[in-house]
Amino acid sequence: MSRIDLHLHTTHSDGSLPPAEVLALAQKAGVSALAITDHDIVAGIPEALETGARLGIEVIPGIEISSVYGENELHMLGYFLDWKDVGLSSRLAQLRASRHRRNPRIIEKLNHLGLDLSYEEVKILAGTESIGRPHIARVLMDRGYVQSAKEAFDRYLAKGAAAYVPRELPEPAEAIAWIRAARGIPVLAHPTWVNESEEGLLTLCDKLKAEGLGGIEVHYSTHKPQQTAQFLNIAQRLNLLVTGGSDFHGLTKPDIEVGVGRGNLKVPEKLLEPLRKAADHVS
Ligand code: AMP
Ligand code: ZN
Ligand code: FE
Ligand code: FE
Repeated sequence: MSRIDLHLHTTHSDGSLPPAEVLALAQKAGVSALAITDHDIVAGIPEALETGARLGIEVIPGIEISSVYGENELHMLGYFLDWKDVGLSSRLAQLRASRHRRNPRIIEKLNHLGLDLSYEEVKILAGTESIGRPHIARVLMDRGYVQSAKEAFDRYLAKGAAAYVPRELPEPAEAIAWIRAARGIPVLAHPTWVNESEEGLLTLCDKLKAEGLGGIEVHYSTHKPQQTAQFLNIAQRLNLLVTGGSDFHGLTKPDIEVGVGRGNLKVPEKLLEPLRKAADHVS
């Protein structure tokens, strides 16, 4: 049975490889179907669809939208999106605009800390409208201020670190509604970020389901077997779809590979049909 990978970033957001190169890696890893899930942008999807048609890999149009829930960020993945939807485009443009309001303030803080870099350089390196902290991390690496993206986040960019600036984010219910409005299936990404007990996560997912959540990302590069089992249990108890993916970014997460994560990720191909059926149902 072949594998799939439903969580991949490209140069259209904070990944370091363009869609065609991500698909080439997917083919090498034996991936039969994948979703491009860039942050707040769908611009990578046409190239992915074309390349997928050439390589014989099914490409599912996707998105990843960050939302804020109390102290935590919840990321919503969206699958089988009507990615040309005008309402979705305008929401995503607003989210990218909020990035452009925050990023120069991060740069300002870094400058105050004595680090020499400008937002112009970050924009040039990023080469996209969806600019995130990983792009700033890469400039810090290129300048030799840090050795890794992890060090950039730990010292400067993560919440609570020296140059942290929050971004205006939607609530989970809004992100869910935007994905639904574009006939996509909303899925809670990397549920370990929720930072709740098993029962707390169950209660939250139950609430999100009432708001339109369709699934949980049960399989993920960094999940321990016990976590995978726990999230699977929650999905089954709430009758939510099960998905999975690597969250490949290239350079900023150098230990994560397409299709296999840290080496032992295998998202079963059989998860795709229930997701597709759910999407067919809404379209
Ligand atoms: P932003 O979208 O600008 O808020 O940046 C958040 C993104 O940075 C996340 O979606 C991850 O892709 C990435 N990220 C978060 N923490 C780290 C970390 N410690 N190391 C590398 N990348 C990270
Ligand atoms: Zn990212
Ligand atoms: Fe995420
Ligand atoms: Fe992601």
